[in-house]
Amino acid sequence: MAAITNTSRSQPGPALIPVDIGHAIYAAVTDPDTAFWALVDKTRLAESLTDGPLLEAYGKEYDNLKRELHGLRFGLKPSGVYLNPTERCNLNCTYCYLPGEQRSSGSHMSQKTLFDSLDALRSYFRSVMGDTERKPRAIFHGAEPLMNRGAIFAAIDQYADDFAFGVQTNGTLLDDSAIEFLTSRNVSIGLSLDGPITNVTDATRLTWAGKSVHDKVVRAMAKLRGYGSWSVITTCSTENLPYLKRMVELFHAAEVPTCMLNAMRCTLPGARGVKPTDGDMVKAFFNALDRSHELYKETGRKLILANFANILLAILAPTARRLMCDISPCGGGRAFFALAADGSLYPCSEFIGLPRFNGGDLLTDGVEAALNSEAFRPVITRNVDAFDPCGSCAIRHFCGSPCPAEAAEMNGGMDKIGAFCDFYKEQVNYALRLIADAKANDYLWDGWDEETETAFSIIN
Ligand code: SF4
Ligand code: SF4
Repeated sequence: MAAITNTSRSQPGPALIPVDIGHAIYAAVTDPDTAFWALVDKTRLAESLTDGPLLEAYGKEYDNLKRELHGLRFGLKPSGVYLNPTERCNLNCTYCYLPGEQRSSGSHMSQKTLFDSLDALRSYFRSVMGDTERKPRAIFHGAEPLMNRGAIFAAIDQYADDFAFGVQTNGTLLDDSAIEFLTSRNVSIGLSLDGPITNVTDATRLTWAGKSVHDKVVRAMAKLRGYGSWSVITTCSTENLPYLKRMVELFHAAEVPTCMLNAMRCTLPGARGVKPTDGDMVKAFFNALDRSHELYKETGRKLILANFANILLAILAPTARRLMCDISPCGGGRAFFALAADGSLYPCSEFIGLPRFNGGDLLTDGVEAALNSEAFRPVITRNVDAFDPCGSCAIRHFCGSPCPAEAAEMNGGMDKIGAFCDFYKEQVNYALRLIADAKANDYLWDGWDEETETAFSIIN
C-alpha cells in the first residue's frame, strides 16, 4: 500500500504535508487543517513544501478555507431522518447491528404513532429548514421496514408533500404491488444483496428458518430495471470478497444505477467474525472498481460505486458529499438522526442496539432535546482532530475516521479509530491517482459538479 504521511505541526498556519499516492509522476500535498490539497510533480516536491508559488498562493486563502471547512464540519443542521417502523426483520444476517431478540420478536410501530411522529418531525424540519423548496429526507430503514408495510405506505401517501421518502429494504418483500406503489410515488429504493450466486449470499443473509433469499432479491432487481431511483448495497465480508468483481458484473448487467460495496460496520460482535482484513478488502474492492470502469468503457453506461464516489467528492467538492460517514463529526445526530420503532431518538440507526445513546422520546421530549442530550453529545462532538492516530493523519478530513459506534464498541471508545483505517487510506490514494490522471469523472454521477464552485485553484 502507498504511504500516507502522519505528522503533527508545532504552530498554526498554512503548512503542507507530502502524501505518497503511489503515482509515477505526482505526489499529493495536503494541509489537513483546511482539507486543502494539491498534486505536485514529485521532482518539485521539496520546493512545494517550503517556499514557492503554491505555498504562497495557498497562504493567502488559508483563513477562508479554514472557515469553510469549519462551517461544513460544525454548521450542519439536520435535513433527514431514518425511520425504523418496526423492530422486526424476516432475516437473521450475521453482521446486523440490531440485537437478534428485537429482530425476531420485537414490535411494530402503530400507524397512529408513525403519523404522530411524522407530524412532530415535519414541525421540527420546518423550524430548521425554513420555507425552502427542498423537502427533508425520510428513509424507512432496518430492521425490515416492509414488515410493517401498511403503516409505511399509508404514511408515504399522507405525507407526500412534506418529505422525500426512501425505503432501505432487504428486498424479500418487494412484490409487484409494493414495487408499483413505491415507483409510482418516486420513492427511492435501496436493496441489499451480498453475493452474485446463491451460496455466497446465503453465507451471511438467510431467513430465521435458514432459507435462502438470493433469488427473491435478484427478481426484485429485475423488476426495478429502468427505474431512476434505486440502488443496491453489498456488505463486504470474508464470505464474499472473492466475488466482488462478479457482483459488479451482475449489477451492471441488471442496470443498477448505483451500488455500494460497503466495508462492514463492526459495531456488534457478530460482524467481527466475518470482518475481512484491510489488505484483502483493498485488493477485492479495487478489482471490482476497476471492473466497473472497464464495463463503463465497453458500454458507455456507468455503475456508480457510491461509497468510493463519496471519497472522490470529499476531495473534489466536500459540500457535494452524498453520504455522511466520512466527515468528522459524522452526520449522525447532525445531518440526520434516527427514530427507533419504540419512539426513541438515536444519532444514527447504527446506535439503536446501544441504549446509552438513546436521546429520549420524540413525542414527549422532542428532537431538540435529543440533539442536546448527553446521549448524543459524544457522537456529535467526536472530532477527528482530537485523538490519535487520526489527529495527525494527513487525510483525516477525507476519511472522517468512521464510525463512532464501531469505535466505541469494537475498540473501547469514541476517541479510538474504527475498523478499516488502511482501507480508507488506500481509497484516498486511489482517488488522488484518478484525479492526477484526469479520470475522476468516470467514477462520479453525471452532473455532480453542476452546483459546486471552485473555492481556490492554482495550476503551475
Ligand atoms: S459513521 Fe457510523 S454513526 Fe456516523 S453516520 Fe456513518 S454509520 Fe452512522
Ligand atoms: S481512520 Fe482515517 S483519519 Fe484515522 S488514521 Fe486512518 S485514514 Fe487517517
